Amino acid sequence: DATTLSETEEVLQDNFDSTVFVWSKQKGISPIAVKYAKGVYLYDYDDKRYIDFSSGLMNVNIGHGNQRITEAVVRQMQEVSYVTPYCVTKVRGELGKKLAEICPGDLNKAYFTLCGATSNEAAIKMARSYTGRHKILSRYQSYHGATYGALSVGGDPRKLPDDSQQAPNFVHFDIPYPYRWNHDRESMLSDSIAQLERIIGYEGPGNIAAIMLEGESGTSGCLQYPEGYLKAVRDICDKYGILLIMDEVLSGFGRTGKWFGFENHGIVPDMVTMAKGITSGYLPFGCLMVTDKIAAHYNDRILATGMTYNAHPVSCAAALENIKIYEDENLLENAAQMGQYVTEQAELMKQKHPSIGDFRTTGLLGCFEIVKNRTTKEPMAPFNATPDQMAVMAKVGAKIKELGMYTFVRWSYVFVAPPLCVTKEQIDEGLAIISEALKIADEYVIE
Ligand code: PLP
Repeated sequence: DATTLSETEEVLQDNFDSTVFVWSKQKGISPIAVKYAKGVYLYDYDDKRYIDFSSGLMNVNIGHGNQRITEAVVRQMQEVSYVTPYCVTKVRGELGKKLAEICPGDLNKAYFTLCGATSNEAAIKMARSYTGRHKILSRYQSYHGATYGALSVGGDPRKLPDDSQQAPNFVHFDIPYPYRWNHDRESMLSDSIAQLERIIGYEGPGNIAAIMLEGESGTSGCLQYPEGYLKAVRDICDKYGILLIMDEVLSGFGRTGKWFGFENHGIVPDMVTMAKGITSGYLPFGCLMVTDKIAAHYNDRILATGMTYNAHPVSCAAALENIKIYEDENLLENAAQMGQYVTEQAELMKQKHPSIGDFRTTGLLGCFEIVKNRTTKEPMAPFNATPDQMAVMAKVGAKIKELGMYTFVRWSYVFVAPPLCVTKEQIDEGLAIISEALKIADEYVIE
């Protein structure tokens, strides 16, 4: 009888009865029913407050409920809500110009999409048609989206339960991550680069259109590149005429303390894909940024791609206002500073919690890595864990939620990626919750 349900229960019931959930078994999940959100906080229908330590899906970079975006969106809708991609609007041109301004090098031409996956699909298509080559190389431990090509280019084990859904001509390689490298640091870089070059040789350099990498590793566990790695990859790409595509969907727009993650590595790619932080999630949107040279290739050739909602004016308006907010509120600087602060605090937490193996962050793209033993570094849950192997981390995740935090707890990682407007006090509040929940993990540490 619906009349006996609370508002929260009613919302949940309708959703369970009539909607389907992503990336999960449909039974046994317990989503937060969000009524409203402001800054770094979400509120449910019972007015319980959750601090959002993953910025939604690492996309709500400016924080929730910013009225400037609402107003920009309404203004645009009052003028014109939709034009076909064959028409143009003022806001589309202005946004293209603004993105060219914040992108380094000759990355001056914007192809506007709907989300991260559609940006990556466009990059894959364009890299193939531009080079006349068919293979795309990428990292095993990476995620690039859920559509056919984007899923195939990713190496995230979420795709393994449905392994038949993969397109051909995607080749994966491994990149060591420093925390788990037991040999000397120099060999980490030289061995991994030599391995990549061997793989390119096996696959035939003349068959490889592009290497696609995340600007900074995200949901695979913030697996930072060995120092000098991206520079070496840039050199290899130049040597073989392979395009370098940086996926900045998650690491872009201030998340790492710079506009783009690759800027921490002193390289300029040939293509950049964007989404998430481009609108801070206020509307679905994405972009593929290419160099003048790549764009000019299509001056006299057809660019054989397009969608009904390319360059949607309302999303363009949200993006343009959102980029101004990053600038007006100095959010890149704040991300860099708060990243420093989290690192210092995490160091103190390590002394209290034997289950913390590592904490790593670039700006506010960070996570704790939880281990059973600090010497062996055995993770609390392995990559590609079964539900049984996730039992301890699931308890940690449930505790975090109970204590009033929303964040990503995945395999052995607890993510720390709050909105870039976060304050020290809010970081303290969030870390105190994680600290309390990690007492559970500490009990499973094997001495
Ligand atoms: N690329 C990266 C690095 C991501 O983290 C994601 C999403 O998490 C995507 C692409 C896919 O973006 P979307 O979900 O908007 O398609």
